[in-house]
Amino acid sequence: MKQLLEVQVKSEAIKDITNGYPLILKEAIRVPEVPMEQGSLMHLVDQHGGYIATGYYGEQNKGIGWILTRKERETIDQKFFAKKLKEAGQKREDFFASDDTTAFRVFNGEGDGIGGLTIDFFNGFYMVSWYSEGIYSFRELIYAALKEVFNVRGVYEKLRFNTNGQYIEKDDYVFGEKGEFPLIVLENGMHYAVDLNDGAMTGIFLDQRNVRKALRDRYSMDKTVLNTFSYTGAFSVAAALGGSAGTTSVDLAKRSLPKTIEQFAVNGIDYESQDIKVMNVFDYFSYAARHGLKFDVVVLDPPSFARTKKMTFSTAKDYPKLLKDALAITNDGGVIVASTNNASFNMKKFKTFIDKAFNETGKRYKVLEQHQLPEDFTVPNNFPEFNYLKVVFIQVMN
Ligand code: SAH
Repeated sequence: MKQLLEVQVKSEAIKDITNGYPLILKEAIRVPEVPMEQGSLMHLVDQHGGYIATGYYGEQNKGIGWILTRKERETIDQKFFAKKLKEAGQKREDFFASDDTTAFRVFNGEGDGIGGLTIDFFNGFYMVSWYSEGIYSFRELIYAALKEVFNVRGVYEKLRFNTNGQYIEKDDYVFGEKGEFPLIVLENGMHYAVDLNDGAMTGIFLDQRNVRKALRDRYSMDKTVLNTFSYTGAFSVAAALGGSAGTTSVDLAKRSLPKTIEQFAVNGIDYESQDIKVMNVFDYFSYAARHGLKFDVVVLDPPSFARTKKMTFSTAKDYPKLLKDALAITNDGGVIVASTNNASFNMKKFKTFIDKAFNETGKRYKVLEQHQLPEDFTVPNNFPEFNYLKVVFIQVMN
């Protein structure tokens, strides 16, 4: 049996919750005096004991849990989870029916009504990510619901919680057919190799789908493309398929080399005709400047935080500097694709970083297009703060 707690919401936080804010912040409630178990259900009430919502307790990097329902009589059981999954599936009917895209997000946490849980679809396989011990305590019910609602080929999972925020190394297979990896998925007709059982990441970040398509369709033909923080080279593949005059992929992780070769290979692109550098991006900037290298298109997609022996990088602090480094090796008239998934600032703020970098460089620019999360990465209505992705295509004017 799950622990059931009656938890009083502070009066100033009630309005947000009734308006649909899905996250339960520690400062929004009076923390009960009894010890709370991860996964406990919380009946949120006002100071008179009046019902507001039901949530679960699960500590995450932000907040201590998520609202599950605002209906007092709704019970949190397999039927509840099945209903949520079904609704999420219905919203993605076009993705399920697509012939040229076989990888997408089926369930996006709070945007689909259950914070802390995401499910991605990879060609019939389902990859479930659990973001807290609290939501993980509902594992059996959620897997039963998943089997009930979807035609599941096989299931893999990632546990994205533990004390220091590190990925737990384990076999990620859960049930159904075992995948043979690399599994090849399609995205707008491009092939990508993924591995659902090889550490924290799968080989592709699905939230960048529209950006890869834009890069391929509108910015690559006959252009030289530099892809920094390239990981498995997904953007480089899009550029090469879009007719790029040449791509350069830069990432300091050693495994990025074989992984990038693999992504080119599954698309029939000769990797030897492309440049792949295992190198610190900041060293690459100096190297390129020293050698007078310049590019028509530069993709910047750094992690929110990165630490190397020599330096730390934080997008919230250092993005203007990163843009200035990129500007130094971008041709006039060229395009910088500036991306960040740092949830701590919004698009407006991100654009101030862009403005700052260009002002300090004495260059003008034009925003050609911008992207946030694609439609399968549903965000809660009225709360754009959950739309963490920000990508701006910036043309450098002379
Ligand atoms: N743009 C990629 C995803 C980037 S993930 C894509 O679309 O698939 C972030 C990557 O940055 C990781 O692969 C990590 O190895 C790399 N990285 C982090 N700090 C770096 C640095 N200083 N120089 C080069 N690569 C770095």
